[in-house]
This record gives sequence, C-alpha cells and structure tokens, in this order.
Amino acid sequence: MNDALLGNVLDMVRECTCREAFLLIIALTVRHCLTYKAMLDIFRVLNILFGTKYFPTSKAGIWNTLNLKSSTFKRHAYCNVCHRSLGRSDDLREGEGGGVVEEEDGGVLCPCGERFRSRRKLKYFITLDLKRQLERFLHRPGVFRLTQYRLTRRKINALALEDIFDGAEFRKLQQQAHLSPHDFTYLFSTDGFKLTRSSDLSAWPVYVKLNEVPPHLRQTTVFLAVL
Ligand SMILES: [Zn+2]
Repeated sequence: MNDALLGNVLDMVRECTCREAFLLIIALTVRHCLTYKAMLDIFRVLNILFGTKYFPTSKAGIWNTLNLKSSTFKRHAYCNVCHRSLGRSDDLREGEGGGVVEEEDGGVLCPCGERFRSRRKLKYFITLDLKRQLERFLHRPGVFRLTQYRLTRRKINALALEDIFDGAEFRKLQQQAHLSPHDFTYLFSTDGFKLTRSSDLSAWPVYVKLNEVPPHLRQTTVFLAVL
C-alpha cells in the first residue's frame, strides 16, 4: 500500500454520465455473472466515492432505473412428480392444485404425496408479462404499420402457400374469429438448453412470434413468454 500511485487524489470523471456508468456496471455484472449483492455493493462504493447517491442501491431501484418492474417476472412452483402447479413462489396456496401443505420444518407436501424438504427443492418456471412486452413494442413509431402485413402483402399466386396466412388452419381461424387489423396471431415455439455444462439444470424458454409483421422481421420480433 506504499505505492506512489496510490497517493494520487482521484480526479472524478467529467465527461461520463451516470447513465453510462450505470450501464458499464450492469454490463460488468452480466459479463462476470456477479450477484445482485455484488452489483449493489459496487454502486454503494461509487456513491461513497462521489459523495452523492447517484446510483440505486436496492433491487427495486435497479428495476426502476431500467424502467422495468420486477413484477414483470412471476416464479411458479410445480411438482415434478405429478406436474401440478403448486402456486406462486411467494404464495404456494395460489396453486391450481390446492391442498399444498407447508410444514413447520420448512418442508412442502404436494397433494400427490410427494414431499419436498424445503421450498428451495421445488422446481420452478417463470412467466413474463407478454402484454407489457407487446405494448412496449407497439408503442414504437411505425410499428403499427408493419403489423398490417397480413392485409397489405402482395400475393403472387392465388393458389400457392406463400405465407402462414395461406394455410388451411389460418384461413379457418380468420373466418371463425373475423380477424380485424387490430387482431394479432402468434406462433409459439420452445427449445431446451442446459444452463451449465456440469449440471443437469435445463431451461425451456417459450418464444412468441408475431405473425402479422413481414416475414423478414419475424425472426427478430420475438417475445419471451415462459422460462
Ligand atoms: Zn405432486
């Protein structure tokens, strides 16, 4: 600690906004898989160095700054034996199966008889607020016009299957539901992947694609519904 460099007085940055510094720390957190706690501690240290609370120091503060709400994500527990939904992770009684028993020693008993030693042993899936994602997407300038592709596309061969709209099932849906320019249809898909090479933990994200945008945009206009 006697290095001469350490004796220099810090010259606080002049041309860096809080936004840039905030995003740098977020990027660092993601890049090195830091915990929430580590990230919040970095922000705390910066606030101390600058003598002002420039950065959020709580989880809720981070979500607010990112203009997201943590309520966008909901964690649901399920029984991996009978596949019954056991309810939201913060309130197991909300589960559709009902009858979930939380024991005094922290164990959880599924109505099928399967016992989990603690809440941490339960399996979970996460749902994301699809409505909110779509709202944010549709609020972008020019996006509504793009979503009119179903009605404005130029068909080349009247008998050919040129797009999903030409399929028998889609045409049946169109007739039954009387789809208007304000109605959208979606394509759901899923594909599993392992979270880490060494564990057997896997995730099966459910992606949602909007059929109403032009084909070249469908691969990039993807929403995440379930994880
Ligand atoms: Zn069960």
